[in-house]
Amino acid sequence: MVDFNSGVTMLKPAANNPATRPTLSDSLVASTHQKTTSVLALLSDASSEFGDNKITFANSFGAEDMVLTDIIIRNALKIEIFSLDTGRLPAETYDLMSETEKHYNTKLNVYFPIAENVELYVKTNGINAFYDSIELRKSCCHMRKVEPLQRALSGKGAWITGMRAAQATTRASLPVREFDTGNQLEKFNPLSDWSEQEVWAYIRLHEVPYNKLHDQFYPSIGCAPCTRAVAMGEDIRAGRWWWEDPTSKECGLHVKI
Ligand code: SF4
Repeated sequence: MVDFNSGVTMLKPAANNPATRPTLSDSLVASTHQKTTSVLALLSDASSEFGDNKITFANSFGAEDMVLTDIIIRNALKIEIFSLDTGRLPAETYDLMSETEKHYNTKLNVYFPIAENVELYVKTNGINAFYDSIELRKSCCHMRKVEPLQRALSGKGAWITGMRAAQATTRASLPVREFDTGNQLEKFNPLSDWSEQEVWAYIRLHEVPYNKLHDQFYPSIGCAPCTRAVAMGEDIRAGRWWWEDPTSKECGLHVKI
């Protein structure tokens, strides 16, 4: 059973997380510009290699994904962008989705879970059954994230993520390009070597919309019931499924088989 009174759960989030407002030193600005140039070159090459409608970017509206969204749209790259709506996202994420539509004058391409699957899961297990066991947590993630992702990736040759190596122990050796054996297509992680500071430098320099929960010490944001604020200096993904072992905390979107 989940202990709702343990560790970081007692933090009262305040909207003053200094990580989202790094000092824009000359060296930070220079490294951010240099890495942006590299990402643009990589995405342009990937777009040419896979062609129209065959390469797609999964935008989960985290800070990294907003950087990639901005690079793709600002440079009119021929890369489709899609998102997953699990039905349990925080209100702040829906606010950002709406803000993104307005900022880029676009409409989102959103995949939802299959309604019958959600109805059966809730009827069988309960509305918040993901707290009851790792199996029920993983089956909820599969139903609300993995299955819609598989539909979004169907027929594609490659997909792009905003993952960074420094985000979690499970991502420490993240390559820029790899073959995704689980989904049987190429996978690009263009921000693999970016630091958190560089991500926020890009967002500030280009005035990119972002999720306001980041200012409240939520460095990684998923579904509302499975995401908490973290303490200063704590692991970036410590607030995701905070009751589980850090070495197994992935939702199934990025597992290797
Ligand atoms: S993060 Fe939580 S609510 Fe969201 S799909 Fe996974 S278990 Fe379900």
